[in-house]
Amino acid sequence: MTNNFRVFATCDIGPALDVLRQRGYQVEVYPQPTPPPKTVIIDKVRSGIDGLITTLRDQIDAEIFEAGKDTLKVVSQFAVGFDNINRADANRYKVPFTNTADVLTEATAEFAFLMLGSVARKLWTSEHLTRDNQWSYWHPYLPFLGDEITGKTLAIIGTGRIGLATIKKCAGFDMNVLCYDPAYQNHEYVKAIQETMDLRHARGIQKDKTSIRYVSFEEALGQADFVSVHVPLLREGESETPTYHLFNERTLRMMKPTAFLVNTSRGPVVDENALAKALKENWIAGAGLDVYENEPLPAESPLRDSAIEDRCRLFPHFASAARITRLSTDPNKGMAGRCVQGLMDVLERNYGGDIKKMPYVVNKEAF
Ligand code: NAD
Repeated sequence: MTNNFRVFATCDIGPALDVLRQRGYQVEVYPQPTPPPKTVIIDKVRSGIDGLITTLRDQIDAEIFEAGKDTLKVVSQFAVGFDNINRADANRYKVPFTNTADVLTEATAEFAFLMLGSVARKLWTSEHLTRDNQWSYWHPYLPFLGDEITGKTLAIIGTGRIGLATIKKCAGFDMNVLCYDPAYQNHEYVKAIQETMDLRHARGIQKDKTSIRYVSFEEALGQADFVSVHVPLLREGESETPTYHLFNERTLRMMKPTAFLVNTSRGPVVDENALAKALKENWIAGAGLDVYENEPLPAESPLRDSAIEDRCRLFPHFASAARITRLSTDPNKGMAGRCVQGLMDVLERNYGGDIKKMPYVVNKEAF
């Protein structure tokens, strides 16, 4: 098959780009590992490309769509989150954009769980003790202890794909689960998890009975030992329940002083100044963060304060960064595969050219 489409990728997404090349596409890739300046993207779009492959580092808005007026046919985002793409602008210019939902769900949920373990069981601090040659004796409680996960209560904020997958993993650690989501509640899933918990208890696999239920935001924060955040970044005006600074001074104070916060969603969901204060003043026990208000995390961030370093784990937006999840060319396994499939669906007019039927197009409402 020969397709003469021109595509610009704002960064290399691996072998999946060869799938396009083998189909006859002309693919140009921004050669640096750093994001291209916006002017570069605008120039490429203005030169008449048909498709643009983006990551969360690229601001895609009216300026880009105006440059590609009548030529740019699709923006294909290498991520499930698309807060960097101005949806209203895409709709106004009638440019469909795609994302890579589902294929990163398990990897992200798994990482959220591992972050939770890392901060609660003091993996970083205890490894430092060993590496820095500060481990001079074995003792029942000195120099410090961690906190167990098994049997504790987890609050899941946002019960979409990743939130539900995190529940599944944590249920295996005999945790109780409190769910909060104002927009989407999956009672069937919750019922199935409860049945699994009951079966595990009845068959002696877990000692104590555990439970799962939907609760209010206040109850979730007030009761949980761990709070894991799985919401999209939605600013004021983008949703009836915006998530920008959902975690702030007021809401962080609702958590127990022994509780941990884990955020793999988007940085601006948490007010970082408030969180740093909460950690310093011991309103909460600790935090594990994968995402930040500004990425990469600035040198002067209050989250780097050495006074809280044993209770604040910091990761480099790494939750989906697993080999198959990131790079597989299979659209049912990898972000790269799904990203190029979404692009091809639009350009090659799959599904009879009906954008509404294309599974990876996000802004179907514009068509
Ligand atoms: P999803 O759309 O399936 O789920 C999001 C859920 O959040 C929805 O059920 C929605 O109703 C709920 N929600 C919306 N507003 C809310 C509010 N105010 N309070 C509580 N819940 C609210 O999305 P997903 O696939 O589960 O992904 C979630 C987010 O995780 C993505 O938008 C992305 O930003 C982030 N993410 C990060 C990484 C990473 O590498 N750190 C990887 C994947 C996804």
